[in-house]
Amino acid sequence: MLRISELRLPLDHPAEALPAAILKRLGIPSADMAGFTVFKRSYDARKNAHLTFIYIVDVEVKDEAALLHKFAGDLHIKPTPDMAYRFVGKAPPGFAQRPVVIGFGPCGIFAALILAQAGFRPIVLERGKAVRERTQDTWGLWRKNTLNPESNVQFGEGGAGTFSDGKLYSQIKDPKHYGRKVLTEFVKAGAPEEILYVSKPHIGTFRLVGMVETMRAEIEALGGEIRFQQRVTDVLIEDGQVRGVRTASGDEIRTDHVVLALGHSARDTFEMLHQRGVFMEAKPFSVGFRIEHPQSLIDKARLGPHAGHPELGAADYKLVHHASNGRAVYSFCMCPGGTVVAATSEPNRVVTNGMSQYSRNERNANAGIVVSIDPKDYPGGPLAGIELQRRLESHAFVLGGETYEAPGQLVGDFLKGKPSTQLGSVEPSYKPGVKLGDLSTALPDYAIAAMREALPAFDRQIRGFNMYDAVLTGVETRTSSPLRITRGENCQSLNVKGLYPAGEGAGYAGGILSAGVDGIRVAEAVTAGLLGQ
Ligand code: FAD
Repeated sequence: MLRISELRLPLDHPAEALPAAILKRLGIPSADMAGFTVFKRSYDARKNAHLTFIYIVDVEVKDEAALLHKFAGDLHIKPTPDMAYRFVGKAPPGFAQRPVVIGFGPCGIFAALILAQAGFRPIVLERGKAVRERTQDTWGLWRKNTLNPESNVQFGEGGAGTFSDGKLYSQIKDPKHYGRKVLTEFVKAGAPEEILYVSKPHIGTFRLVGMVETMRAEIEALGGEIRFQQRVTDVLIEDGQVRGVRTASGDEIRTDHVVLALGHSARDTFEMLHQRGVFMEAKPFSVGFRIEHPQSLIDKARLGPHAGHPELGAADYKLVHHASNGRAVYSFCMCPGGTVVAATSEPNRVVTNGMSQYSRNERNANAGIVVSIDPKDYPGGPLAGIELQRRLESHAFVLGGETYEAPGQLVGDFLKGKPSTQLGSVEPSYKPGVKLGDLSTALPDYAIAAMREALPAFDRQIRGFNMYDAVLTGVETRTSSPLRITRGENCQSLNVKGLYPAGEGAGYAGGILSAGVDGIRVAEAVTAGLLGQ
């Protein structure tokens, strides 16, 4: 198969223009092409008056060797790389040892799936509930101001990304094409096939719920088990080797291989691991607010005359500003046509995040606008970042009126340093509600100063970004894990053998796709450990 990249066609091209462009590029008649698939489709919106689709296609031809010879030295025509997933090992018949995976978010799902497909019958322990019941509890906070600390946006089947925009792209290096395996398994579980080829795929919340159930069913059919409402409260360590885990219900499960796929909000579990002496260190993360604009404003700024084109959907953005006080301010987890959601997992705290449905057709665009911070800002050891997060989230709860409403302010008022008393043209989407006021004490002073400098700078990239009526809500504190559970090349903890820190919570992923990829990587390390390789 041949891979052709940089094939450009106008936005409104008819379907037959693509095969015609392939034949023209290769200089062959149609009889010499057996078929083709689109590997990637992106668009270049920089010159938005002449917006084009850019394709990467894989083409089956009659005489591949002759064409490779003809185009030797052409950077855009190469053999298609082999992206098939290959297991590093399989369980021999009757293999008795079973690994334990803690957490059933994207990392735990993929760790468990690969281990199950390789015949190792993993046991998954998940503190939250199965996804349908969890959905009820999550809506309980959004609709009735009632938080269930064990079943919410962060905890439960599917993990933190279940109620999300379901963006499935990442900038990680992926030489072994694990990301392709993640996307292929998602399609098998019900994701739209386009996620395999559009450049910025997303799934949206409702589909994710069904997909997670399908993946659970496959793991179970292969002999794995998923046990819900099983919070791990202890790890059993003997002479530097993990020997099992204990759950809140008092069960003890003996095993020499434990994957820690905890997510970034498992603060109690991090504390327990720290007490048990598992090596960990503080790491940088970011804090900030969500910002909401009319989606139409973003579409117009990003897509110009093509705003609203059905092939392009709601536009996104990605912004960075390096502030004069040395802080980076950037957009985070941008959700086109979505809503801001309440994302706390602890009582009497307020945390914001964003989600959308597949259609992305809500009125507002939202994104985190966050400021980088690092351990120098929160000295005091590996858990000090958590303390800072908790302080900011508790203060946001107070500013929001102590009812789980989020504190909010209009961008114009925030820049002037004046409390907001009335909404303008942008209706914020956060449920259970927004209490307007003054956000200037909601973050450390350096973060507020950096943000006041960044918003006008962003307006130079997206005209209208700085609009007076755009709404800020706070606080966005769970951008990534505030710590890293250090691991070596075999993916095992640096000082506890058989313990495999993984995914976002351990500091090795940031997002659904990269967490899934890390789950695969760690499952391979567990396979090697189980087979004594
Ligand atoms: P998690 O998904 O957090 O899963 C960890 C799991 O471990 C949880 O289910 C938790 O209940 C369980 N657990 C924790 N402690 C224990 C314990 N002691 N015992 C048993 N179980 C335990 N990323 C994207 O790429 N695209 C997006 O569009 C996107 N949108 C998001 C929107 C929202 C509202 C949120 C909250 C996050 C979003 N993210 C998004 C981030 C993404 O969800 C995470 O990066 C990803 O889920 C991390 O995967 P993980 O498996 O490492 O951890």
